[in-house]
Amino acid sequence: MFAVMPDRYYCQHPIAGADVTLEGPEARHLASVMRAEVGDTVVLFDGTGFEFQASVTRIGKRDVQLTIESKAEVDREAAVQLTLAVAMPKSERQKWLIEKAVELGVARIVPIVAQRSVVKLKASGIERLRRTVIEASKQCGRNRLMEIADPVAWKELIADGAGDEEKLIAHPGDTEEGGSTDLQVRTPATTPSNNSPNILAAIGPEGGFTDDEVQSAIAAGWQSVSLGPRILRVETAALSLAARLLDNLGPIVSL
Ligand code: SAM
Repeated sequence: MFAVMPDRYYCQHPIAGADVTLEGPEARHLASVMRAEVGDTVVLFDGTGFEFQASVTRIGKRDVQLTIESKAEVDREAAVQLTLAVAMPKSERQKWLIEKAVELGVARIVPIVAQRSVVKLKASGIERLRRTVIEASKQCGRNRLMEIADPVAWKELIADGAGDEEKLIAHPGDTEEGGSTDLQVRTPATTPSNNSPNILAAIGPEGGFTDDEVQSAIAAGWQSVSLGPRILRVETAALSLAARLLDNLGPIVSL
């Protein structure tokens, strides 16, 4: 029997006391779309990992006030901390990628600027995507928000080298320089999720990574991986990689 996800509302300030005020889109969603009434009970989350049962105490024109009734830490995060470094696709496909990455449990998206990138994310675009993260988290039950970092140049990302994460670069088929490892034939002993809970995986632009970009990454300790014989669009490749690396979807991704 599957639990039905109750209506959830995001509070942008950490919830500390007994009284909470929702404003902006969250207040509109609760008051105008869901037609909440005083006394209704809803679930709030503030991105810190907790869920709060709260009852509506006042419905104003621009805000809704609630009283917290109970609080519980509810962990719906993946066991692997997966960061996807993605040369973002265009418009609607970008939003779709973010929504699905939240659902799958990706921890962080780093938009990358590669040599063949055509999409340049502006601050307003990033803000819109952060709103998509909230909407998707409300729907799927995540109590921590997937982070969307500011865009970074591919060269900078591979030069950074910080942390002890396993670093994977998705690159189709064989390369003249030695070829990509098929991700599906990794043995359990070398599975990233066994070795380290932190994985950084990169997906290139529609035109692909250049050989120079792939070789620089390999020289910096990244592993080139293939996702099979078909060429996937950026968002398909990103989500296929995420689904295979995250271990919360059952045996099919127990690589
Ligand atoms: N012609 C480009 C090339 O050869 O790289 C295709 C780029 S593909 C549309 C966009 C990105 O998705 C690639 O840079 C790669 O990161 C990832 N990708 C797509 N299909 C893949 C596959 N079969 N194996 C590994 N990565 C793949």
